[in-house]
Amino acid sequence: MSGYDVIVVGVGGMGSATAYHLAARGHRVLGVERFTPAHDRGSSHGRSRVTRQAYHEHPSYVPLVLRAYELWREVEQESGRQLLTVTGGIMVSTREADLVSGGLRSAEQWQLPHELLDAAEVRRRFPTLTPDDSVVGLYEPNTGFVRPEEAVRAHSDLAAKAGAELRYGEQVTGWTATAHGIEVTTSGGTYAGGRLVLCPGAWAPQLLPDLPVPLVVERQVMHWFEPAGDLAAFAADRHPVYLWGESDDDFLYGFPAHDGETAVKAAFYRRPDRCTPDDVDRTVAPGEVEEISAFMASRIPSAVGRHVTSKTCLYTMTPDHDFVVGMHPAHENVVVACGFSGHGFKFVPVMGEILADLATVGRTTHDIALFDPARTPRR
Ligand SMILES: Cc1cc2nc3c(=O)[nH]c(=O)nc-3n(C[C@H](O)[C@H](O)[C@H](O)COP(=O)(O)OP(=O)(O)OC[C@H]3O[C@@H](n4cnc5c(N)ncnc54)[C@H](O)[C@@H]3O)c2cc1C
Repeated sequence: MSGYDVIVVGVGGMGSATAYHLAARGHRVLGVERFTPAHDRGSSHGRSRVTRQAYHEHPSYVPLVLRAYELWREVEQESGRQLLTVTGGIMVSTREADLVSGGLRSAEQWQLPHELLDAAEVRRRFPTLTPDDSVVGLYEPNTGFVRPEEAVRAHSDLAAKAGAELRYGEQVTGWTATAHGIEVTTSGGTYAGGRLVLCPGAWAPQLLPDLPVPLVVERQVMHWFEPAGDLAAFAADRHPVYLWGESDDDFLYGFPAHDGETAVKAAFYRRPDRCTPDDVDRTVAPGEVEEISAFMASRIPSAVGRHVTSKTCLYTMTPDHDFVVGMHPAHENVVVACGFSGHGFKFVPVMGEILADLATVGRTTHDIALFDPARTPRR
């Protein structure tokens, strides 16, 4: 079948990086995106995403995130955009909870720089944080944040520059795969190619209804507050990125003020609020702002001054919170990348590399066993 070597569906976080890696390797690439570059209808908007290395979720993520740090710097060089800022970060929890014990496990296994601080030391070093003595802080100097919209733009621009054809405002309505190639039907036409990479984010349940790993789309909310205290205390060199909570499924996280903004962003990792991308309620209720303000009031009291804005975003959850990345179980020329479960963005550049490997040679040297699309989820 003639046409493209690879067609990438969804040019968001993962799709833009995949199109870039494929085009840079000299392949004929088509990327199809239903919205505009770096839009706010999916999962890759809101100006900041936490990146960290001492991964409490599982040590298998560590080599991937280390490679992602290298690639973030390369993409910054090539695009001239600032994508990754390393601020240092702290995971505040009880010593036994996953945020700390899982983080320590990864830090020790991979010999990552880290310090375990008692609450008094956390309060001394980071005066914006006021933990009580029941918790500890796992401090990681290499934690920081990445800029999602800038990252999507950087990868998309570099992909186009390397020869990828990116079509925006075009919705994929169906795809087929045979032994001879793949075909993608969109609102604008039909395209043929050798291999297909599906990176549809929260639309995965629609484009990949038959995946063995079940996917649930959830609405989540990000909030911005002007600090009640001195804004300078929230600068990136003083106020760390933080994760704070009792369980790895229910914690608060937040960022320093950055890029000249006068507000700081904070959010709960997860409020299970099932939706679809087409019926999600994108308004934020006053009660949601009150809930997070109250939670922060005893922990980061000087952060919560005037509420500036809140914005919704979508997660695509798997039962074990591990990603779904690999060859489609039923089609040898289709690659899938979805189910990033609210923690995928930090991996965007390495996912681009992995998906480009899979779409060209059908395998990758990166260890992605945890993400097997045909697995039985581990929890
Ligand atoms: C509130 C929030 C906070 C987060 N915090 C973090 C964090 O701190 N750290 C971290 O690492 N991760 C975080 N994440 C997760 C991370 O942002 C996501 O894992 C990542 O953005 C997923 O990228 P994606 O490419 O899969 O999805 P997207 O970027 O949404 O891309 C999917 C694209 O596919 C397109 N598409 C879908 N269907 C079609 C179709 N039929 N035709 C054409 N195009 C289509 C969509 O329009 C979209 O552009 C967070 C997510 C949210 C929502």
